Amino acid sequence: MSLLEVTDLKVSFNTSDGVVQAVRGMTFSIDRGKTLGIVGESGSGKSVSTQTLMGLTPGAKVSGQALFEGQDLLSMTPDQLRRIRGPQISMIFQDPLSSLHPLYKVGWQIVEMIRAHEPNVSKADARKRAVELLGMVGIPQPDRRVDDYPHQFSGGMRQRAMIAMALALNPKLIIADEPTTALDATVQAQILDLMLRLQREFDTALIMITHDLGVIADLADDVLVMYAGKPVEQTDRRSLYYRSHHPYSAGLLRSIPSGAGGRGGRLIPIPGQPPSLISPPSGCSFHPRCPYVMDTCRVDEPPLREVAAGHGSACWLPKDALGLGPEAEQLRE
Ligand code: SF4
Ligand code: MG
Repeated sequence: MSLLEVTDLKVSFNTSDGVVQAVRGMTFSIDRGKTLGIVGESGSGKSVSTQTLMGLTPGAKVSGQALFEGQDLLSMTPDQLRRIRGPQISMIFQDPLSSLHPLYKVGWQIVEMIRAHEPNVSKADARKRAVELLGMVGIPQPDRRVDDYPHQFSGGMRQRAMIAMALALNPKLIIADEPTTALDATVQAQILDLMLRLQREFDTALIMITHDLGVIADLADDVLVMYAGKPVEQTDRRSLYYRSHHPYSAGLLRSIPSGAGGRGGRLIPIPGQPPSLISPPSGCSFHPRCPYVMDTCRVDEPPLREVAAGHGSACWLPKDALGLGPEAEQLRE
């Protein structure tokens, strides 16, 4: 049994414009100590899906199953979920200021969180742990900085403090939603290194949500590419980078400026806009933007099918159309 097994997760919202189908059937699992990258443009459903698992999408209509150590997160009461959030599953967001309270000292916030879940821990011990954690995530002079307010930290340090907080209760799973997007490239690389190192040390499972495939190039064991609320490609990292099948993944790969899968430093954005989730396109949701579109794509929706062992793709191209890129140009209509 995997640590987390999500089956056919669907999430929709009623809005004045109609029903937004934010997640339209998502199945994945993650084991202890592993990293899963969930990649897609904004509005692809990647954040909504994990927020829903954590009970953070009030008002949403949700179906499917999400077994965490065998227990369905989707049928838990808000109280049960609150007990899971933090000690079992913790989240790191893009903007630490949305999670760090600006008016309280960083260390105090870590201490309070520890004591909220572990009431038997004394204040002094919790503070000691907060200092240790801040040191572990690379905050210099943690015994002094523990008494700083969030605004006294740089953006990178705040994100490190968030990671310290996420680790404070030694969770089994960390969900990081665009944790480095707001940071410059050097700090981003440092933070990603840090997360990877700590994850190995603590044997934590990590779900890394990002719009940038480059971010998880060195990090993820498996990758799930989301488009318009659905996974369109799902495989291990190497297969995705070197033998991707879905044209959308190929487009994301071409939009990485450098590094794994990057094509000679040229950044090529995917033309067109993500589709409406109120009335998604007929057939393949990607067809209005796909350079390989065929007649059938406009009518029939491609199911996620195995194109190689352990490699799923929701695309009508032949199974052996792997490694899409310049070499597959002849497949264009
Ligand atoms: Fe492109 Fe057709 Fe594949 Fe969709 S199914 S990604 S339109 S080739
Ligand atoms: Mg998001």
